[in-house]
Amino acid sequence: MPIFDIHTHAPRRSLPDDPGASSTSDALYRPDKHASTAHTPETYIAALDGIQRAVVFNIAADPEDDRNNSNLQYAVPEVNDDTAAIVREHPEKLIGFLTVHARDPKALDEIDRCVGDLGMKGIKLGPNYQNIDPLSPEAFRVFKRAEELGLPVLLHQGTSPVQFADLDYAHPRHIDRVATAFPDLKMILAHMAHPWQIDCIVVIRKHPNVFADISAQFYRPWSAWNAFCLAQEWGVMHKLLFGSDLPIATPQETIDGLRSINEVIEGTGLPRIDEEQIEAIIHRDSLGLLGLS
Ligand SMILES: [Zn+2]
Repeated sequence: MPIFDIHTHAPRRSLPDDPGASSTSDALYRPDKHASTAHTPETYIAALDGIQRAVVFNIAADPEDDRNNSNLQYAVPEVNDDTAAIVREHPEKLIGFLTVHARDPKALDEIDRCVGDLGMKGIKLGPNYQNIDPLSPEAFRVFKRAEELGLPVLLHQGTSPVQFADLDYAHPRHIDRVATAFPDLKMILAHMAHPWQIDCIVVIRKHPNVFADISAQFYRPWSAWNAFCLAQEWGVMHKLLFGSDLPIATPQETIDGLRSINEVIEGTGLPRIDEEQIEAIIHRDSLGLLGLS
């Protein structure tokens, strides 16, 4: 059965002359691994061995505020041209998602360019990285266009390494209102909105077109077990999609982490996460659910 990874970050190709810019420091992301992860086109593709299809994207920087911009974020249109370039090299494997900044006055033109000229299939937004209120008129303009064009939107949700952007913008409760306004828009809440997984669960539970990806759970074993236990009890396991957040974790690390989800409760009377449901997440037809197949 194929495995689809719906959350991978493109290696940045047009790098500035900064040798550190090609790697991502894990310290803020991975409590279990404090080294830097090399992130080049070669390491990226090698890590996707065994994965049939992967969604790949970059994140557009805030055009008016360079205080929050890291090497995760950079300017439109290069940010999308970079994603399109790696997709062109691996068209059988990669599905490109575009990114825009909602406060960019040309955001809708860039969406049209990326879909029409570059063949991109969805949108990546990071309310925390981009310091954008998902309930603002600017953000709603982007959601409306995405709904019209049938583009799924993947949103970073939950904890953030970005100091000068409002953490509340990445809280999943706001997506309830977005989904109510745009019921046909398919959305994926990244990372089950950790550590607000229960808030994520109540949102994906009531909106048929809102899903969550399971990336970034496994390296906090107690949090991860709790998250899947809650998802199981609240009946949303079928709304969880496989994603790795490459390069922060590889798909294989993520699969191994999912398969050892119950280790933390061995020897206790706590309920086990159903292993068949875990396998179902790993092999979920996310592309079909998102209208991408
Ligand atoms: Zn990510």
